[in-house]
Amino acid sequence: MIISDNSVLTFKIIRFLLIGYNINEFDIKQLMFNNGTAITSIKSFTTEGDYITVTLNNSIDIKEEFFVIYKQNIIKLNYSELYKSKEFNDKYYFSGELGAFYGKDSTTFKLWSPAAKSVKVLIFKNGDAAIQETPSILNMEENNGLWSVKVLNNLKGYFYTYKIEVYNIVNEAVDPYAKFVGVNGLRGAIEDLEESSPEGWTEDSSPLLKNYTDAIIYEISVRDMTTHPDSAVNYKGKFLGLTEDDTKSSKDLYSGISHIKELGVTHVQLMPVFDFSYISTDEKDPVKYNWGYDPQNYNVPEGSYSTNPYNPLCRVLEFKEMIKHIHSLGVGVIMDVVYNHMFNPLENNLEKVFPGYYFRLDVKCNFSNGTGCGSDTASEHPMMRKFILDSVLYFANTYHIDGFRFDLMGVHDFETMNIIRYELDKLPRKILVYGEGWDLNTSLPHELKAVQSNAWKMPHIGFFNDTIRDTIRGSVFNNKDSGFISGKSDQEHTIKKCVTGLIKYSNELSGIYDTPDQSINYICAHDNNTLWDKLELSNSYDSYDDRKSMHMLGNAIVLTCQGISFLHGGVDFCRTKKGIENSYNHPDHINWMDWDRKSEFYDVFQYFKGLINLRREHPAFRMDNSQEIRDHLVFLDNMPQNTVGFILKDNANGDIWRNIIVVYNANKYPVIVNIPYSDYSRITDLSKGYTQVIATDKIECAKLSMTVLYN
Ligand code: CA
Repeated sequence: MIISDNSVLTFKIIRFLLIGYNINEFDIKQLMFNNGTAITSIKSFTTEGDYITVTLNNSIDIKEEFFVIYKQNIIKLNYSELYKSKEFNDKYYFSGELGAFYGKDSTTFKLWSPAAKSVKVLIFKNGDAAIQETPSILNMEENNGLWSVKVLNNLKGYFYTYKIEVYNIVNEAVDPYAKFVGVNGLRGAIEDLEESSPEGWTEDSSPLLKNYTDAIIYEISVRDMTTHPDSAVNYKGKFLGLTEDDTKSSKDLYSGISHIKELGVTHVQLMPVFDFSYISTDEKDPVKYNWGYDPQNYNVPEGSYSTNPYNPLCRVLEFKEMIKHIHSLGVGVIMDVVYNHMFNPLENNLEKVFPGYYFRLDVKCNFSNGTGCGSDTASEHPMMRKFILDSVLYFANTYHIDGFRFDLMGVHDFETMNIIRYELDKLPRKILVYGEGWDLNTSLPHELKAVQSNAWKMPHIGFFNDTIRDTIRGSVFNNKDSGFISGKSDQEHTIKKCVTGLIKYSNELSGIYDTPDQSINYICAHDNNTLWDKLELSNSYDSYDDRKSMHMLGNAIVLTCQGISFLHGGVDFCRTKKGIENSYNHPDHINWMDWDRKSEFYDVFQYFKGLINLRREHPAFRMDNSQEIRDHLVFLDNMPQNTVGFILKDNANGDIWRNIIVVYNANKYPVIVNIPYSDYSRITDLSKGYTQVIATDKIECAKLSMTVLYN
């Protein structure tokens, strides 16, 4: 384990590093402690290197910070190890529900903070923190770290915050468990959950997902889908914008949510829709654009996407209205969740409620910053783990969410992810769990991280497959680097591994995943250059038509590999962000879905539609277990350079086609490929479904293209 240099290990044992002294001359009589008014005496001590471990006669007081004083040195100890200990959790872990519980006759408030010396609930009439107001103040009572108070009034329509006295400061915080908030998320709101569902909500149901590998995911942002002037959507940039059906651009092509229905994907993945920071986007005047990867209130939808952010019910009702509409089109809804970090830890609610508990510290007791976004949350601390789990289950149950995409999942510990998978498995419908399993420098031992190399410890949790991404298009970190589709040679072996879903297929082709549903196959997402922009950078010397062919071939590979397919919204009409790699705070005209482009690249769009239809119609492309893939997928031998071919044989996964041959030709010239002799139907135009019957043992594959045959 990575233990901080200076730690409280249990209620009676501490360990610290003494720097600047000769350990052989260590004088225990000079050692003193400061733990508030607690009198602390030493029972025994041991030394190991420069570390000193001391056993105390009495328990430390966790409502005070703990300092070791040795001669001129004052060392602050960190409580992280204690928080993980059995004795701490036996005493303080709270397994019940937290938050504000509204009833017509009373509202009960529950907050967890064992470190707090006092907690008060402040009740306001206004949800806008900018309005001066003297709140009503009520004291809360503590029971082993759980603070609560029952208020015998009808508080519907009121707002609240907590005032927490902790470690000699007084913090005002929004309830981390708030389910409703005022404008900009600076006060919790008291509302009746019963009144927070739109008409027909109880009849809302998610589309059936039989196997995770059946999912074809399309990543969108609520705002980007409709802000373009030619979207023909009234509620531009709002949740309600995605409830408007049959919208068509001036080119008479479907836009907004109807575009997604037309395309035929099974799921949309929404970029952050939880309440993100008012500093990124002011809900009162949301001109400033932000993707929203800076969580503020995890259990509340974002206000700038609602038509009235001042009314706490509005964002909830409209978010549900949107989900209901998307479900009615037969499409599932996945949320992008960002439990891994919060910006500016000192200013956020979790830290204000219980300083030092919810965030991971490094060995020097500084906030661990593996995410590069401020501070990594400590998912290994039981009440943080519970916070994440409660939030996920709340969205799955209350909002009918069909999947969760974990931002920088590799920062979390794998056990937390497994518990989430386990609890979601109890629900009657299949819910996707996947994320970015990047290995970041967070203060957690590698063997505990939810990273790709630990995939075997996390059954049925998916990982963004950066092997397929970089092999097809070239490195995302080097604009000039190319990949299989764009002229780099010797990529055939890795492409073959990707075709199998990067499972352990054979000795030669051995991947990192246990099952195909662990492989999220993609070549572009909101991060980094769009595929079209990347090809312009890496292949500027190629013709426009060749780049278009590369673009289509790359996605043809994604949609015919085993695993789960993932598409970046707009990739189906060659989305551009005008060369801006990280457009998180760029204006709408960089980030929006440009519906004019759909007509410019209508042939590409039709091709994508054909690809998606092929995958949906043919289960052979989405086998759900590894043995089936080993039994039914064989590669063609003696292939020309820069060409990969395979057969999905013997009605794989119950397919109506007996054998399917797929060949990717990444050369800028046609190639002749040997196939086993048979009568085959060759798909001559995927977008129109045209086929041509041939009886042969040799086929010609056009340049920069995918060939599909079946019998
Ligand atoms: Ca917000």
